[in-house]
Amino acid sequence: MGHTWAVSDTTKREDSLHEAANAQIRRAADLIDLKPEYRLILSEPENEVVVNFPVRLDSGELRMFRGYRIQHNNVLGPYKGGLRFHPDVDLDEVKALAAWMTFKCSLVGLPYGGAKGGVTVNPREYSDRELERLVRRFTHQLGDTIGPEIDIPAPDVGTNAQMMDWIMDTYANVSGPGGRQQLRGVVTGKSVAVGGSVGREAATGQGVLYALRHWCGETGQRLAGLKVSIQGFGNVGSHFARLAALEGCVIVAAADHTATLANHDGIDVPALFDYARTNRRIRGFEKADEIETEELFDIPVDAFVPAALENQITAERAHRMSCRVIVEAANGPTTATAEQTLMGKGVEIIPDVLANAGGVVVSYFEWLQNQSGRSWRVDDVDSRLREIIWDANDKVVRMKAQLGCSHREAAYAVSLTRLADVYDRRGIFP
Ligand code: GLU
Repeated sequence: MGHTWAVSDTTKREDSLHEAANAQIRRAADLIDLKPEYRLILSEPENEVVVNFPVRLDSGELRMFRGYRIQHNNVLGPYKGGLRFHPDVDLDEVKALAAWMTFKCSLVGLPYGGAKGGVTVNPREYSDRELERLVRRFTHQLGDTIGPEIDIPAPDVGTNAQMMDWIMDTYANVSGPGGRQQLRGVVTGKSVAVGGSVGREAATGQGVLYALRHWCGETGQRLAGLKVSIQGFGNVGSHFARLAALEGCVIVAAADHTATLANHDGIDVPALFDYARTNRRIRGFEKADEIETEELFDIPVDAFVPAALENQITAERAHRMSCRVIVEAANGPTTATAEQTLMGKGVEIIPDVLANAGGVVVSYFEWLQNQSGRSWRVDDVDSRLREIIWDANDKVVRMKAQLGCSHREAAYAVSLTRLADVYDRRGIFP
């Protein structure tokens, strides 16, 4: 039986991130003999929403912005995934990020599908008032694309709890009366005061640390004393660093878009964490040496944690890197050729869909709290998060042994197995 390709794809290009995401999926699909029909369905998003909208700047000038919401798949439940505000946001990137959400949610057993969105904007160039107008207008323009049972956005690169609060408020204001509690579940990652969950902000970093701890268990070593470098010191990188340092990891280097800092004896992470909160950058922190950006990849460490953007670990950098494990806190940080190089050197890569799933797991807890009108205590959030992440890591390690494949392929194999099982039972409409 033939499988025809009827969709024209104007975003297909040499360096396509979406194509790279599809290639990862194809490799795992081969390993588990996934039905060709399911591959076909999963290779394109279900809905691609692109909106252009005006925002009045403080100067009085009117500027147009482009926003996206890509809904990849909802066979497991409502679409779920973050919103990214970054100058490089484009359709191809958001399509890849949306697909990764489907596999992430499936892997950790959440009742969600995958989506991602964003606006092509550098939020640092706008005032809070301008950003508020932008977020509210974008939300309004998305209309019924989102909803607590339809598609639930969350923070990602360049967005934060305050922006999620504005999304929720805008959505609630334009919705009819009733369901005020549940309406708050239209978005997660909100401030605790308006229906967010305790523990959500640190959740992704916490999950990254659980993944690293799990790897330590597998390889028979202690977490305390591990030398770690971190690329990215935003929400994910900074919380990971703080929690890892509490466990005795030695953070020898940390980088953000303003500087790369190193200290052989370990950076004073609590001080750097506070500095980064206050200054919104790490440049100027005095208790570490500032080094060249590229030197980050030359420092020998046990664990390297990319927590910034995609395609940061290139083949060229991979050749220079000396580490034993890479824990992908960011989405898509390692290029396919870099991965080959690293695997050739015996470096283990804990893939993004597994390593950074802590965020969406606690988003799910937040959504459950909004549905029930009850808030959970921080120790409930932490213990349930730990259980889910641990269980997913166990499953991936078992799959890896069974298939004799890489960590990434095993993660996709677990994820695809669940999706295939649901498709087998539900069938394909009509
Ligand atoms: N943006 C995060 C991610 O890539 C969180 C998504 C969510 O909480 O829905 O996983």
